[in-house]
Amino acid sequence: MMRPRLLFTAILLVVSTIALAQDPARVRAIHGTPGTIHPEIWPVFRSPLPPDAKLEAAVDALLGRMTLEEKVAQTIQPSIASVKPEDVRQYHFGSILNGGGGWPGDVRKVTPKDWLALADAFYTASVDTSGGKQAIPVIWGADAVHGHNNIVGATLFPHNVGLGAMRNPDLVRRIGEVTAVEMAATGIDWNFSPTVAVCRDDRWGRCYESWSEDPFLVRAYAAAMVEGLQGAPSSAAFLGRGKVIATSKHFIGDGGTFGGKDQGDNRASETQLRDIHGPGYFGALGAGVQSVMASYNSWHGVKMHGFRALLTDVLKNRMGFDGIVVGDWNGHGQIPGCTNKSCPQALNAGLDMYMVPEDWKALYENTLAQARSGEIPAARLDDAVRRILRVKMRAGLFGAPAPSKRNVGGRFELIGAPEHRAVARQAVRESLVLLKNNGHVLPLLPRQRILVAGDGANDIGKQTGGWTLSWQGTENRNTDFPGAKSIWDGIRSTVESAGGTAVLSPDGSYSQKPDAAIVVFGENPYAEFEGDRKHLVYDRPGDLEILRKLDVGGIPVVAVFLSGRPLWVNPYLNASDAFVAAWLPGTEGDGVADVLFTAADGSIRHDFRGKTAFSWPRLATQTVLNREDPGYDPLFPLGFGLSYADDVSLPELPTDTSGVQMMTGNVWYTTAPVAPWRVVDRGNDLYLTGGETLDLSRESNGNLAIAADVRMTKRPAADIVMSLGCGPGCAGAVNVTPMLRELPLNEWRTIRIRLRCFADAGA
Ligand code: BGC
Ligand code: BGC
Repeated sequence: MMRPRLLFTAILLVVSTIALAQDPARVRAIHGTPGTIHPEIWPVFRSPLPPDAKLEAAVDALLGRMTLEEKVAQTIQPSIASVKPEDVRQYHFGSILNGGGGWPGDVRKVTPKDWLALADAFYTASVDTSGGKQAIPVIWGADAVHGHNNIVGATLFPHNVGLGAMRNPDLVRRIGEVTAVEMAATGIDWNFSPTVAVCRDDRWGRCYESWSEDPFLVRAYAAAMVEGLQGAPSSAAFLGRGKVIATSKHFIGDGGTFGGKDQGDNRASETQLRDIHGPGYFGALGAGVQSVMASYNSWHGVKMHGFRALLTDVLKNRMGFDGIVVGDWNGHGQIPGCTNKSCPQALNAGLDMYMVPEDWKALYENTLAQARSGEIPAARLDDAVRRILRVKMRAGLFGAPAPSKRNVGGRFELIGAPEHRAVARQAVRESLVLLKNNGHVLPLLPRQRILVAGDGANDIGKQTGGWTLSWQGTENRNTDFPGAKSIWDGIRSTVESAGGTAVLSPDGSYSQKPDAAIVVFGENPYAEFEGDRKHLVYDRPGDLEILRKLDVGGIPVVAVFLSGRPLWVNPYLNASDAFVAAWLPGTEGDGVADVLFTAADGSIRHDFRGKTAFSWPRLATQTVLNREDPGYDPLFPLGFGLSYADDVSLPELPTDTSGVQMMTGNVWYTTAPVAPWRVVDRGNDLYLTGGETLDLSRESNGNLAIAADVRMTKRPAADIVMSLGCGPGCAGAVNVTPMLRELPLNEWRTIRIRLRCFADAGA
């Protein structure tokens, strides 16, 4: 079946996007030239931290003692997957990070003790003064975006999309406090959270990291979360015991890219950028946030990592931000003219620290050379380092002992502590949104026979979503979550303790007819661009059949929908009597049963309080849907949510999907090419080619691979080459013969080739 030469042709085209959503002349008239920033129209902020002359003098004194090498090293943030404590001893890097799934020693399920031991090792290396180096404590950054989510046993909260529905900033502050304590117990100083994105197109794969489409809510929550993580500015608690440094990200406009494309282009006007995507930062800055992460996205074609007017003129000069602007994962490498290994443009534009997971050595050397030559001005480098030192001093790190001896380091009983889980369970209860309750099917009496169906009912991995133990959050099993509760666990204990019977039946089959059925289903985990969609029609196979089967059987059906965003679910709404949006609730799944069931005596224990923080589509074709839209016509508007007293009956809804292009993501070939892809056979060469232009740079940067199922029917006689084409004269070829030689004959196997290999070969 394999040809001697196999040629994969995909048109790799990075489109430079300077197009405008609206009429350019009109936009110019109202907002000035697109792409031009006017700092004077942005708000002025004063740091809520009291001026501290002593601290500033200490920063200057230390800066004066540092060599150029030491200064450059402060601006470099490698990943623990590729940097060792010995390297930190040699270079004295300013920071290290772990990405999603970047566990110490790359071993899944390392214990909190292992995290802390590694934090100590890096710290000790960073304060080693041999060779006359300055002792400057390294800070470790991680994404604790819904609790300390890389740690087995941690308390995991609902993702932001669910927290938005609570409309409860005080509870968000409390969640920040709990997250900070669990982080500090493992010796991690810096959280790459909160995401203050305002998701305006729910096709975006990071919509669940956004609290709301409403900038005002995001502003209030940003302030609360930053305060919870860092402590109130100008209070003694600030960056004190049980606190970590917070980051508001991704600056700016990540939630407003064209088509909801992750890392895409934001084409809003400058005032829209300020008024829709700015308020999260206004809230965070007002609460004294100590770092801001630059975004992968561009604004009118200019990438944020190199956007001087926004990073420096607006954020630092106009809005008075005096903390660290940190880059995103190789984000600097996306600036035209830059690579992951060299990018003076980013530092010169106002970036203070490069997030450079793997290529730290080359980047360090190139940045050093650029600082020596003056390509990076000395004043700019000093400013970047001064900001990093200032934040470290504010965090009280100089003179503090190793992570295990400072803060709450080593207090492992705090990780997943019962009082922390109680906070998360409350958040689950408050985030549930009741969309339909015909005939008052809910609340359910527990003393009944309850059938629990759907693949989400007893799957903690599914209910926790992406950014959970790994980056994508796929592959997690219930046993990976000691102390956690699935939604089923909560239902069972509620029903059984009241004397009822609960039966788990994922496919909805039953031998004895139940009094009511709860069906838990929805999106499987994803993160970042892996979650981008072309439409919002929910269409996972199997779920609708379960609902319909029960409905036809005359059983009252309660749908519990797990998702990172509103999706078009009209057929599912029609097939159920009650419908609950449960978002991605996290580890405390028992919060769901708290609300669905009455007490044994029939009294309501917890009413629904959640109000959706995103507009819910009425039509399968509605993709961009926000309250300010002209002719706004959602199925459920922003702020919708029933409570038990409401007497609302949802009528049968239209289920027309015509006009929706049901495209699958990056699947190009199944048993036949997926349209518009087609196979062209040219004798020795087999081409998979398409009318589509594809930009795979994000996938390549994220270390993804092309996968193919192959069955070898005979040993390759000549070399077999797989190549990725990118337009005339542009291709990268990878010799796959050695890989294929290893395969057993006549058996199907999956081969994977990292996209990076094609890029390295010239694509
Ligand atoms: C994400 C950031 C995250 C960083 C570190 C990036 O891919 O965009 O949100 O903080 O990785 O894991
Ligand atoms: C993510 C990391 C992740 C990595 C995988 C990045 O974009 O932010 O957290 O581990 O990709 O390659």
